[in-house]
Amino acid sequence: MNPITEELIAPCGINCALCSRYLAYKNNLNRSQCIGCRPADRNCTYLFGKCAETNNPTTKMRIFCYECNHYPCQHLKRVDLRYRKYYHTSIIENLERIRQFGIRQFIEEQYLKQRCSRCGGLISVHNGKCFACDEVTKLVEKSNSHRRHATSE
Ligand SMILES: [Zn+2]
Repeated sequence: MNPITEELIAPCGINCALCSRYLAYKNNLNRSQCIGCRPADRNCTYLFGKCAETNNPTTKMRIFCYECNHYPCQHLKRVDLRYRKYYHTSIIENLERIRQFGIRQFIEEQYLKQRCSRCGGLISVHNGKCFACDEVTKLVEKSNSHRRHATSE
């Protein structure tokens, strides 16, 4: 079953289900965690309060950026550039696919693309690792929990 739900697609087109911080939460790893932009119902982290639409209490987190009159604004373009450069993902392309083909099809495409062939878990867009079965990711978790345990004694 596809673990990516509609509410995990952020207004800016970022797929929270593929975010390292969300995957840490989902797989209960001892590292920085996040439940996803829409579920957290916070102001947008990336647009830093510069966006009147996603941060507007009446429309907040219910829209996609392509529904905005300012789309694609310079703030969105900056995030897109960063994602293309470091993570080989275009969030504007994500938004365009959602607009053209709908959220359901987008979610299916994302799952086919980022599904781990070994365990069926999701591969992070940030480090290219499966957070459910990658040994290095689990090692990080182990060493962190060991350190935390040691300092609490
Ligand atoms: Zn896996």
